[in-house]
Amino acid sequence: PVRVRFCPSPTGNPHVGLVRTALFNWAYARRHQGTLVFRIEDTDAARDSEESYEQLLDAMRWLGFDWDEGPEVGGPHAPYRQSQRMDIYRDVAQKLLDGGYAYHCYCSAEELDERREAARAAGRPSGYDGHCRELTPEQVAAYEAEGRKPIVRFRMPDTTITFDDLVRGELTFTPENVPDYGIVRANGAPLYTLVNPVDDALMDITHVLRGEDLLSSTPRQIALYGALIELGVAKAVPRFGHLPYVMGEGNKKLSKRDPQASLNLYREQGFLPEGLLNYLSLLGWSLSADRDVFSIEEMVAAFDLKDVNPNPARFDLKKCEAINGDHIRMLDAKEFAARCEPWLRAPFAPWAPEDFDEAKWAAIAPHAQTRLRVLSEITANVDFLFLPEPVFDEASWNKAMKEGSDALLRTAREKLEAADWSSAESLKEAVLAAGEAHGLKLGKAQAPVRVAVTGRTVGLPLFESLEILGKEKTLARVDAALA
Ligand code: GLU
Repeated sequence: PVRVRFCPSPTGNPHVGLVRTALFNWAYARRHQGTLVFRIEDTDAARDSEESYEQLLDAMRWLGFDWDEGPEVGGPHAPYRQSQRMDIYRDVAQKLLDGGYAYHCYCSAEELDERREAARAAGRPSGYDGHCRELTPEQVAAYEAEGRKPIVRFRMPDTTITFDDLVRGELTFTPENVPDYGIVRANGAPLYTLVNPVDDALMDITHVLRGEDLLSSTPRQIALYGALIELGVAKAVPRFGHLPYVMGEGNKKLSKRDPQASLNLYREQGFLPEGLLNYLSLLGWSLSADRDVFSIEEMVAAFDLKDVNPNPARFDLKKCEAINGDHIRMLDAKEFAARCEPWLRAPFAPWAPEDFDEAKWAAIAPHAQTRLRVLSEITANVDFLFLPEPVFDEASWNKAMKEGSDALLRTAREKLEAADWSSAESLKEAVLAAGEAHGLKLGKAQAPVRVAVTGRTVGLPLFESLEILGKEKTLARVDAALA
């Protein structure tokens, strides 16, 4: 049975790279009726925070992911927070030491730096040089007498490590590129290098799907697995698959510190979880050459690691917004209105709560649904209905209110006054006729009307907007613009 894991560290805000990793693991688990283990890698007390942990859980729920084992749902391998598993790591580290798979290393940071520099200068590999691999009891006693506190270092086998990456195919690492590495700090704190594979082993993880940035830890983990199997702690080495890098602006690797990478930003702007997930799935995968827009169910049904592309994927915000807009249009009308709710109410809405009008909202919503890319755009599109006066955008005003626009507005007002206000078509004919009287096409004639009434040059279909706003307010706004 497939057992995959999503195991973020609770540092900072969740970012899109993390979401992509969660998505691919979740989809793989669901596709194969497997198990998704959600584990929290919080062994770095200096960087981890409870707030970040809460945000992670909240993000997972918002995205619609469920997990079979992990925080809140529990499971046979509980606890799923590494900070609560310290005894396990201490025990495994001791077994590794006792079995000779790891050793105490007394080298100080300065000594390591010095030797690294010297190796570099001499053109030799600059990783750990094995200095403490075979210390005699006398040497150990001398270091201890100096008061040095050792770290625990894993002894890499002197053999080449080859594995078949699920995304990249066969990969080979030679010993000089994978030196012995630390697994427990001098203060006794276990490191990622130990706790991550130990938990993967104890939790019977079968497939490790994670970002390419972790590729260099894979030969180390495979070697550690070898020791864990000999010690009876692990059963089998999992398969590994490394998901491609995500490139941001300027073709630079998208980093978690990039504002564009923050999941909260997408939530605040009103991306739908289904739209965002659809787009993120395209970062390294595709459903088919001619279809970019699909549901999460369709993705799960088709998801296969064979189709994951190892080349870096480019994060394209415009495309992400376009796909999100498609998902907005796919919502049924009720659902669309419900999803807009947060932006129609305090604190996001700029109008007073008592000025909000349900009937007007119901009338305008269908026109908005066909045009939004993200839900937050809703407020600027409908604020003319609920604010006492339109918000005049200066650039729009200057663009629309040119010489002759007063005369046009006066004629338009006359025609609108006489029009049939139960029909957007009749309002359109009124403005069309006003335009004709001044030698203007509809587009040119409607611009000053739009700015006078809504404050902006672009927006929802004008004549429907006027009809919904109503005759009295529309004419009053045209008068105000003329004053
Ligand atoms: N806690 C690690 C991280 O967030 C997990 C890496 C892995 O998937 O092995 O980077």
